[in-house]
This record gives sequence, structure tokens and C-alpha cells, in this order.
Amino acid sequence: MQPTPFEYAPAPESRAVVDIASSYGLYIDGAFVDGTGRRFKTVNPATEEVLAEVAEASGGDVDRAVKAARHAYNRVWSKTSGRDRGKYLFRIARILQERAREFAVLETLDNGKPIKESRDVDIPLAAAHFFYHAGWADKLSYAGFGSDPKPLGVAAQVIPWNFPLLMLAWKIAPALAAGNTVVLKPAETTPLTALLFAEVCEQADLPPGVVNIVTGAGATGQALVEHADVDKVAFTGSTEVGKAIARAVAGTRKRLTLELGGKAANVIFDDAPIDQAVEGIVRGIFFNQGHVCCAGSRLLVQETVADEVVERLKRRLTTLRLGDPMDKNTDIGAINSPEQLERIRTLTGIGEEEGATRWSAPCELPDRGYWFAPTLFTDVSQAHRIARDEIFGPVLSVLTFRTPDEAIAKANNTPYGLSAGVWTEKGSRILRMANAVRAGVVWANTFNHFDPASPFGGYKESGFGREGGRHGLAAYLDVA
Ligand code: NAP
Ligand code: MG
Repeated sequence: MQPTPFEYAPAPESRAVVDIASSYGLYIDGAFVDGTGRRFKTVNPATEEVLAEVAEASGGDVDRAVKAARHAYNRVWSKTSGRDRGKYLFRIARILQERAREFAVLETLDNGKPIKESRDVDIPLAAAHFFYHAGWADKLSYAGFGSDPKPLGVAAQVIPWNFPLLMLAWKIAPALAAGNTVVLKPAETTPLTALLFAEVCEQADLPPGVVNIVTGAGATGQALVEHADVDKVAFTGSTEVGKAIARAVAGTRKRLTLELGGKAANVIFDDAPIDQAVEGIVRGIFFNQGHVCCAGSRLLVQETVADEVVERLKRRLTTLRLGDPMDKNTDIGAINSPEQLERIRTLTGIGEEEGATRWSAPCELPDRGYWFAPTLFTDVSQAHRIARDEIFGPVLSVLTFRTPDEAIAKANNTPYGLSAGVWTEKGSRILRMANAVRAGVVWANTFNHFDPASPFGGYKESGFGREGGRHGLAAYLDVA
């Protein structure tokens, strides 16, 4: 282990900037209402402290929310001009910026991610999505979908826990810009920023019923996507649930987009600038504790530089700071839930049983909360579970290759196809890889960069449909 050159002083963000109520209702038709179902608790995964009690929307509550969305669509939103929809979206975007610190703190408390990530990535990108789509709202006739493209109607949207507010923005901003109304269900473990977003809708004077938030778990999500009066279903989450939703929606008139899991290859050629590539590997798999569908969880490194890359990577991982997510110097926060921690432990255990070599960064794990040290596996073969299954945690599987063809074959040897990375100095090689790798996004000499103008989505079992950019608008317009 390298000697630590100096210690950082604690730099905690203040939790006083956010008011968390002890109990929350559902946001339906422009008001917070009590649900008719049971209630559940949401905790801070870094401390196991209960943050609030939240209503679990029953089938009846979901029905009420869909009716409110339908009513708002018929009476108001479908008659609101693109120019005026744009004004509301710009307003929401500006309020998100004004209240960014509050949102960042709340996201970190409810999710466990480091404050520097919620502050510098999640919240600014969420605002950027609203700004971007606000710009489209009055320009849909110029988007290449005909002179007067129509919205679909009511959108049912179900999102996961890894980027709670950001996934909400990816779903709600394009839907409203295109003229749809929405009912959104956040994940059970991270409902709080969606509920704070409901306050933003009020602050922006958004007409009641245009945005409805129903909290709950899988059953609430199921009731929402199966509701007979929704026109469009948008889902981000696991491939397994995505398949169940696809079956439920099959044969109905509902339109569907699915953004599911991934097992991205991050390919390092021997001419790549190694130190930069190491930073990219870290960003690819240890950003957000690896709870990222497009994470670079399979490192493919050219054999001639493999030892050097792994050695420098281990040295770099030794300097990552794991701990209090509210500390501004923290790099690795808490695992979002005990269930996810268990899944990571099970899969890494299988990695060892199957013969891969495990190495974890030396770091002290806090006593309370859910934690997992940054880990990498070498001696991994393509048949290993850790090379095939999405672990969704801070765990990297390292494989090697000799030729570009072998790199392409191995990168594509997965049922998924969400993203990939390529590191090389040769422009021609970047273009060849981008063409040959079956992935929705291919990053060149970078990783995990997002922009609202750039469409995002998968091939194969990573789902279908695109979010963001001009392509993402098509998912919310009646254009086949
Ligand atoms: P998940 O079960 O697919 O959850 C995603 C969302 O769908 C949550 O809001 C969830 O509710 C809801 N849901 C669950 N069952 C449903 C159903 N039958 N019908 C409609 N909605 C339903 O994913 P997860 O349990 O959070 O994570 C499991 C695995 O999924 C992870 O280990 C990871 O591999 C993958 N994952 C991928 C992404 C991604 O961005 N592609 C994100 C998260 C997870 P509740 O969770 O609130 O119960
Ligand atoms: Mg929570």
C-alpha cells in the first residue's frame, strides 16, 4: 500500500439546508393526498437512519392519478401551446438550479451517493434536461416528425434508485415538452427528491394533474404500467422487470420504451495514454458506487499493457476515499440498500468460487450502513458469472485481448448492449470500434459523459427506444 501523503480534514455539507417531513403523501392532481395503502419508510443507506415515512400507492390511488393525468391532458395540457409549455419547463429548470443545493443534499441522504456527485452531476444534469427540452417545446414542427406532431396522451413512467432525480428529469422533461401528462413512480428506496420535485411543480404553477407522483414499490409500478388508460409506458430498471412489462404491454395500444441493464466493455488499447485511461476506468465503474446501467464493468485491456494498467489502477484505487457521502471529499458512498449489497456480495463470492482473483482497495468500512470496498477481479474468463451478469456495484472484471478483432468479439459477447468505451490514440480505430461494437453509446477516450442533446439507449437486452436528443422526442410523439 502506498503511504498516504496527507489526511483530508472533514468537509461535511450541511444537512440543515433541507427540510424533510416525517411523513409524505402522494402528489395527485396538484395536491399532496393521503394514500389508501400502507406506508413504508425510506432510510439513509449510509447510516440506516429512517428519513421519512412515505405512502405506498394502492391500485385505487394509481387509478386516481391516471384519471388526474387524463383530465389535465384533455382539459389543459393538450391545448397549451408549445411556447407556453416551454415557459413552464424553463421555470422548472430555473427552480431546480435555485434549489440545487437542497436537492443535492436530499439525494445524497436518501440514496447514499457522494455529495460531490449529486452536487456536480445529478442535479445540474437534471436541470439541463429541463432546459434542453424547454427549448424543443415550441419547435416540434422542425424536429423532423412532420409539420404538426401530436403527443401520445398519458405517460406511465417507472424509474430506479440509482439516479433518482436525474431519471425523473429524463422521463418528465421530454414527456411534457411533447405535450403529454405523466404519472411517475420513483423507486421504493429513493422517493424523496421526486416528492420535492412535486413542490417545484407547484412553485412553477404547473397546471394540476400534468405531473403526478405515486410512491410505492413493485406492485405500485405494476398497477401503473398495467392501467388501461395510459398511452405510453417508459421504464428504466432491471432487464427482468423490463421483460415482465413488455409482456404486460404486448397486445395493447400502449407505446413502450425500456432502458434496462448493461455489462459494458471498456476497451484499452496499448497506444492509449495509460494514466488517462486509468482515470476513465475509475469513472466508468466506481462512479456512483457502480450503480450505473452503462457502467464500464468489463475492462478489456490489450495484453501487452495489461500488467501495467492493473498495477496503476490498483494504486489509484488505493487513494479513493470511501465513507460519509455528505463529506465533500468522499469518492465512494454507500450501497443503496441491503438487498443490493447482498447481490454484490453473492456475485463477488461466485467470482472467487469460479477461480477469479479478487483484490479490494484497502479501506475501512463504516460500522453502520451498507458498504462495499472498490474491488477488481483478474484471471477472469468470459464464461465467469462476474463477466456476464450485471453486478451493479463497485466491482470490475478485468479481461485481456491481443488483437482489435478479439476485442470486438469479446466486447460483443454479452446479451446487453447499452454502452462501451474505447481508449486509443488512433482515430481510425475509434471509428472502427464505434461501428463494430453493438452498443447504444460508445465513448472514446472518456466514459460516463452525459448530455441532454445526446440520445441514450440500448441494443439487445439493454432495451429499446432512446432518451435525450431529437431521437428521444420520438418516444413521446405519435410518430411510428
Ligand atoms: P427493478 O426492480 O427493475 O426496479 C426498477 C423500478 O421498477 C422500481 O421503481 C421498481 O419498484 C419498479 N418495479 C419493480 N417491479 C415492477 C413491476 N413488476 N412492474 C412495474 N414496476 C416494477 O430494479 P431494482 O430492483 O432496483 O434493481 C435490480 C437490478 O436491476 C440491479 O441489480 C441492476 O442490475 C438493475 N438496475 C438497472 C438500472 C438501470 O438503470 N438500467 C437501474 C436500477 C437497477 P421498487 O424498486 O420501488 O420496488
Ligand atoms: Mg432511501
